[in-house]
This record gives sequence, structure tokens and C-alpha cells, in this order.
Amino acid sequence: MRVWGLSALKELDWQALQGRVFGFPTKDSPIMCQTILQDPAFFKFLLHIDQDHAATIRLRGCSRCGGPLHQAHYERKPRDAPSTWIEEKIRFSFCCGHCRCRCTPASVRFLGRRVYWGATVLLATALCHGRALRRSHPLSQSFGVPVQTLQRWRQWWLTEFTTTPVWQTLRGRFLPPVETHALPGELLQRTRSTILQDSMTQVMRWLAPLGTLTEGR
Ligand SMILES: [Zn+2]
Repeated sequence: MRVWGLSALKELDWQALQGRVFGFPTKDSPIMCQTILQDPAFFKFLLHIDQDHAATIRLRGCSRCGGPLHQAHYERKPRDAPSTWIEEKIRFSFCCGHCRCRCTPASVRFLGRRVYWGATVLLATALCHGRALRRSHPLSQSFGVPVQTLQRWRQWWLTEFTTTPVWQTLRGRFLPPVETHALPGELLQRTRSTILQDSMTQVMRWLAPLGTLTEGR
């Protein structure tokens, strides 16, 4: 797995504020950062995290009645996932053998019902920071995400996300506080790693509970 420095994201953030993200010859261009999202090793790693977590949840049994959890996995179809990635697209889920209640564990790959990888939502929106709508077109083309979708994601980070229990819990960990307008890019900066993949993995771990309403209810 190729390693990208987080400094590349900081540079991109600054460049985005200057409105010339695609016009600079730095070592790690946005397109190279975006390449992380096509790196099989990165998604295998995220898959393994989800597998481990799902196994832990299954061992606990049904949170309602304590019954055994049986496999009831299903396939998601992220628009930015290569068709050859079969295992990576499986959403782990279980069904109680007694009360039939479904339990879908938190995930570092999927962010709710969005039809793109959670990592895409995170990285593309982070790179949108400070960018006017008309300047989002190159980013939209690079990520294969419509401009309107990028803008909708950005609005979600600034509004709905800030009302979630995940953010209400997470925000207290940061000193100085993370300003709402700096989401989600500032989260990547606040991880302890300087490696972009590691930072993205850490942030996706923080956000993982957003992807489930049924774990531990
Ligand atoms: Zn049950």
C-alpha cells in the first residue's frame, strides 16, 4: 500500500482556499490523494476492521433478548467501487435466531445509506473546504461525484452531522475545539498520524457508529 503524507492534505487545504487546487506541481496532487480510494490494500484493511468488529458484535449475541446472531449479510453497491471488489462491498449484518431482530454493526467502510464509500465522502468533502461551487468541478470530475452531491455532503457535515450523538461525544476530545466550519478536514488533521491513510482510517473509526441504528439498541 502506497503511503501518502498528511502534509499533502494540509497543502491541498491551503491550495483549495487559494482556489487553485489543480494548478500546482507539488509531490502529492489531489489526484494522487484520490488514488487512495482505488487502493485495494486500503480497502482490504478497512474490510478487516469491519470483520473484526462484526465478529465481536456477533459474540455478544442479540442486545434485546440475548439470542444467537445468525449471518444475514448483504451486498452494498458503492458507485465508486470496482466491480471486481466483491468481498469489500459486503455489509456485515446479523439476525437474531430468537426474536428475529436485525443487528447491523458499525462500519468504517459505509457512512449510512450513502451510495459512495464513507472514505470518499470524507476525503472529497475535506478537499471541498473553502471552495466555491464553480471551483468544485475539477474535484467533482476527479472523484466521479456530481458537484451537487459534493455540496450536499458539505452541508451535511456543517448541519446534520453536528447534531449527531457521534459529534456531540467526539467534539469534547479536541483541544482546542474543532470549529464546525472546518469539518471534516480538521478531523483528519487532529489524528495522531501524519500518514493520510492512517488518518482516514482513524476518522472513519470515529464516524463508524453513524452507519448503524441497530448495533446495541
Ligand atoms: Zn433477539
